[in-house]
Amino acid sequence: AECLSRAKHYEILNFLTTATFDDFEGQRENSEKLFKSGDHVRTLEGIPVAVKDNFCTTGVKTSCSSHMLNNFYPPYNATVVQKFIDNGAYVMGKTNMDEFAMGSGTVDSIHGPVRNPWTFNLPDVSDITEIKESDWLIAGGSSGGSAVAVATGSCYAAMGSDTGGSTRNPAAYCGIVGLKPTYGLVSRHGLIPLVNSLDVPGIMTRSAEDAAAVLNVLAGHDILDSTTLQTPHNHIELDAEPNVADLHIGIPKEYHAPGLSAEMLAQWDKVIEMFEKAGAKISSVSLPHSQYSIVCYTVLCAAEVASNMARYDGLEYGKRATEAEKSTEMLYATSRHQGLNEVVRGRILAGNYFLLRRNYDQYFMQAQRVRRLITEDFNNVYSQGIDLLLTPTTLTDAPSFGEFTSEDNMTQSQQQDVFTQPVNLAGLPAVTVPVGLSPRGLPLGLQFIGKLKAERTILNAAKWLE
Ligand code: GLN
Repeated sequence: AECLSRAKHYEILNFLTTATFDDFEGQRENSEKLFKSGDHVRTLEGIPVAVKDNFCTTGVKTSCSSHMLNNFYPPYNATVVQKFIDNGAYVMGKTNMDEFAMGSGTVDSIHGPVRNPWTFNLPDVSDITEIKESDWLIAGGSSGGSAVAVATGSCYAAMGSDTGGSTRNPAAYCGIVGLKPTYGLVSRHGLIPLVNSLDVPGIMTRSAEDAAAVLNVLAGHDILDSTTLQTPHNHIELDAEPNVADLHIGIPKEYHAPGLSAEMLAQWDKVIEMFEKAGAKISSVSLPHSQYSIVCYTVLCAAEVASNMARYDGLEYGKRATEAEKSTEMLYATSRHQGLNEVVRGRILAGNYFLLRRNYDQYFMQAQRVRRLITEDFNNVYSQGIDLLLTPTTLTDAPSFGEFTSEDNMTQSQQQDVFTQPVNLAGLPAVTVPVGLSPRGLPLGLQFIGKLKAERTILNAAKWLE
């Protein structure tokens, strides 16, 4: 009840697309059979959680913040949603996002932008009525709604999705923990795809311990997602007092990237020093191909988007334009024009261009090769005895809407993914942790990147820092 009243209190932040508060009892009944069956322990009993509006929820609208799906009531639950319910959690709402998870600000949503609770450093945003839209800070994206749900204490955990940073970026801007699990550790069944080979459900919480608890519930093979790992998930128990003295931490030298703010750099150095003092071994390492990850991601993302979005034809599936001429082509074109925003349409166009037979090798295949090189860089570093890498999560603290959407910032907003995208391309786990405040009083996040399936190592390191 406390959580729900917080959610109402912070309504002005626009982080929910659908509140499902009233369905609580219904959700419980649905999984009643399972409880009665005996030996099932409900580890999240009574815990409120929120899920991004790109996870399917039975009978509850799943819009992807797009006109195309604004009338979509799925007939089934995504595996992660079902696991939440089966473990006694209450799904309290669907969270606002960038349309089809394309973006890093949660500013491109048909439901309007999500606002960051740290705006003006005021914990009590309910007093704020007169703020120019451009002065609000962005929540980050594309899972901005989920980050705000957790940051405001409206729920205990929230699901985001992470294709190129969409869980870690908003978690960093909102001062919470954001975990991107190893690719395939958590089922994507019922998560509306952005880039199938990069997407993972992401977990947002206020502590590393909570993230481990949620991961333990959600991880594991799913017959409904053939890309999930076959090996059983080993229950993660974090150390009561993590010891970092045995850790060998790599600091990728190329991650001193253009645009990295002085305060982020200072915070990064400070934390490196803390680890060093605690006895950890620190080494400078090289990930030479990471610098190409933005272009590589751009090509792969557009190509998969072009193919994934073809299903929204307004005929079988998606919004149907009513005033189109009788021809199927017109109906298709008009429905897609009305149903999808410019970002989405732009990526579809670019993707189809990259996939043309004459361009295929030069763009798509080339991007696949670069992806392999980026992955090999990580493997090399880990084979030298490094246990985990420590990097910033974003270049700066949260910008305002005005800054973020200004013309000259367009490239900079893409560049914000520079530390997160290589991790998706390599399928590795990573977690962002809040490490302090910038001089403006806004949260800064650092990221630990682990080896495949080494969630326990990175979460322990995160817990030590908290
Ligand atoms: N910002 C990236 C994009 O726009 C990543 C999004 C994501 O991880 N879903 O595609």
